[in-house]
Amino acid sequence: MFHVKQSEFDVVVVGGGHAGCDAAHAAARAGARTALVTLKMEGIGVMSCNPAIGGLGKGHLVREIDALDGVMGRVADLAGIQFRLLNRRKGPAVQGPRAQADRAVYRAEMLREMTSCPGLEVLTGEVTDFIMQGDRVAGIVLADGSEVHAKAVVLTTGTFLRGLIHIGDVSYAGGRMGDNAANKLGERMDGFGLPLGRLKTGTPPRLNGKTINWDILEEQPGDDEPVLFSFLSKGLNLRQVSCGITHTNTKTHDIIRENLSRSAMYGGHIDGVGPRYCPSIEDKVVRFADKESHQVFLEPEGLGDDTVYPNGISTSLPEDVQHDYVRSMKGLEQVEILQPGYAIEYDYVDPRALDMRLALRDVPGLYLAGQINGTTGYEEAAAQGLVAGLNAAKEAMGQDPVIFSRTDSYIGVMVDDLTTRGVSEPYRMFTSRAEYRLSLRADNADQRLTPKGIEAGLVGDTRRAAFDAKMERIGAGRAILDATTVTPKQLNTAGIRVGEDGKQRTLYQVLAFPETSVADLVPLAPALADLDDETQVQLRRDALYATYIQRQQNDAQALQKDEARGIPGDFDYDRLDGLSNELKSKLLRIRPSNLAQAGRIEGMTPAALALILSRINRDQ
Ligand code: FAD
Repeated sequence: MFHVKQSEFDVVVVGGGHAGCDAAHAAARAGARTALVTLKMEGIGVMSCNPAIGGLGKGHLVREIDALDGVMGRVADLAGIQFRLLNRRKGPAVQGPRAQADRAVYRAEMLREMTSCPGLEVLTGEVTDFIMQGDRVAGIVLADGSEVHAKAVVLTTGTFLRGLIHIGDVSYAGGRMGDNAANKLGERMDGFGLPLGRLKTGTPPRLNGKTINWDILEEQPGDDEPVLFSFLSKGLNLRQVSCGITHTNTKTHDIIRENLSRSAMYGGHIDGVGPRYCPSIEDKVVRFADKESHQVFLEPEGLGDDTVYPNGISTSLPEDVQHDYVRSMKGLEQVEILQPGYAIEYDYVDPRALDMRLALRDVPGLYLAGQINGTTGYEEAAAQGLVAGLNAAKEAMGQDPVIFSRTDSYIGVMVDDLTTRGVSEPYRMFTSRAEYRLSLRADNADQRLTPKGIEAGLVGDTRRAAFDAKMERIGAGRAILDATTVTPKQLNTAGIRVGEDGKQRTLYQVLAFPETSVADLVPLAPALADLDDETQVQLRRDALYATYIQRQQNDAQALQKDEARGIPGDFDYDRLDGLSNELKSKLLRIRPSNLAQAGRIEGMTPAALALILSRINRDQ
C-alpha cells in the first residue's frame, strides 16, 4: 500500500477512474480531508474505451462539471488533439463540444490534478471490505488488512465489481483489460442486500496505425476554431490531428454473420444487458440487417502513440474473426491488431436505492457514483462523482446537502432519472432527456451553476474572479442593450430589415432577430463596440433564447415548488388508504425525496399525489 500520512479522513473515495477523480477533487474543494484509494497510480484517469471526452449531451455534463470547478473539462482541454463542436449547424441548445484526447497526457494531467489538490491524499491498494460502526459505513479495509477510517465513503469502482471479460468463447475475471476484477468487494456489496444487477459493455480492437493505409482514406480534421470545454482554458495545449474514416462493407458483414455463434454475446455467454446507443458491430449487423455499410472513425490515441481506436466496431467475437473482418475494410487490408476487442460484464446497483445525494438509503455513510450506478460513459461518471463527493463532504462536515434539479442542470436530470426511474440498460446522457434544454445549454453552464458552486464552497478563487469579471462584462453589455430602444425606421436605416409595424424594441429584443449580431447594432449604440468578442457572442446566444426561456420558466417554477415539498425518508405510505398496493410498493422502493420526484414515478396519478401532499401537510 502507498504510504498513508494519516488513516482518519472525512471522506474516502474508492476508485481513481472518472467518477472517482471528480468525486475526490470535489470533496477536497468543499473542505473535507479526503483520500482517494485506487488499485494503482497508473490507473488514475484511464479511459477504458474510446479516447474522447464530450459529445451530444455528454459535452453539456463536462461544461457543468467545469462550471462547478471540477477537473474533467480542464484535463480534456490539456489533452485534446482534435476538437469538434457537434451539431454546429443546429442551435446552441443541442450543440455538444467533443475532444479527441491523447490518452497518456489525459492520465498524466489527471494524476497531476489529484496529487496537487490541497486536502487530497492519493493512496493505492485494493479495497476489499468496509469498516462498520453499527449499520453505518465508517471507512474501508484494504487487501493487506490496513484500515482507513472516514465519516463517509464514495464507491466508484466502474466495471470492476465481479467483472468478467469475454472474447469469443473465452471468459475470465477482470475489471477491464489488464486489471483484476474486484471480486471481494463485489461479494461484500452483495452482503448489504442491495438490489444488484448485471450489465455489459464492449470495446473494439486497437489497431497499429503504422499498418493503416491512410493515403486512401477520407480525412476528418478538427474544427478550425476549436471550442474548448473549460470556461478557464485559453487555448490549445497540443498539436491537432485528423481522424480517418473507413466503412464496413458486405464482406465485413458476411464474416460477422458467419461467425455470430462464436460471439460471446450471441453465443449465449453473456447475461448482462448492453448499451443500446453504443451497439457492438454484431448488434449492428443483426439489428440493421438491410444496411450494407457502417461508418468507422479511425481515431489516433495520442501524439506519441501509433495506436488507433476504430470507433464503431466494438465486439466480443474471437480474435481470429476480429482479424478477418477488420482486414476486410478499405485502408485496413494489412492492419495489425494490437489488442483484441472484448466485452465485459459487471455488477451494478439499481440506482433507485440511492437518494438525490447519490447516498444509499439503507447503508448510511456510503455513496455510489459512475458505472456502478448503471450508467455508461466517462462524463456521466464524472458528473455523478462530483455530486457524490460534494455531498459526502457535506455530510462529513455536518453541512446541508447540495441537490441538483432538472431545472438547473443536466447533472440534475441524470441524478433524477437514475434515482426515480432506475435503468434497464446502461444509461447515457442525451439532450432529449432534458425538458428545459433551451435554458440548460453548454454555453451558459457557468451562468447556471458557478453561483451554486460558489455557495457550496466548491469554486476556487481563480474561477470565481474570472466568472465575476465575465458577468460584469455581460451585465454592462446587457445594460446598453436594454437601455436602448429603437423604432423600425431606425432599424431599417441601420440595415436591419424589419416591417414598419410601429413597434418600439429594445436592442436586446432586436438581438434575437435571425442572423443578427452585436456588431450589427453598433450604429444604434456605439458603446457596444467596446465589448469583447466572447461577450458579444454570449449576449447574442442569451438573447436568442430569452423568449423561450421565459415560457419555460413558468413550468420550471411549478416543478421547483414541488421539489421544495420534501418527503421524509421514513414517510409511511402504508398509512395512506387511498393508494393502490402497486403504487405503495413503488413508493416504498423508490422513496422519492420530494413531491416532484414522486410525480415522475411510472403510474403516479394526481389523486395519489394529492393524498401524499395532504399527509405531509398534516404531519408538519
Ligand atoms: P472506471 O473508469 O472503470 O474506474 C474504476 C476505478 O476503480 C479504477 O481506477 C479501478 O482501479 C478502481 N477500482 C476498482 N475496484 C477497486 C477496488 N476494489 N479497490 C480500489 N480501487 C478499485 N463507455 C461509453 O460511453 N461507451 C462505450 O462504448 C464504452 N465501452 C466500454 C467498454 C469497456 C470494455 C469498458 C471497460 C468500459 C467501457 N465504457 C464505455 C465505459 C467507460 O469506461 C466507463 O463508463 C467509465 O470509465 C466509468 O467511469 P467510472 O469512474 O465509473 O469507472
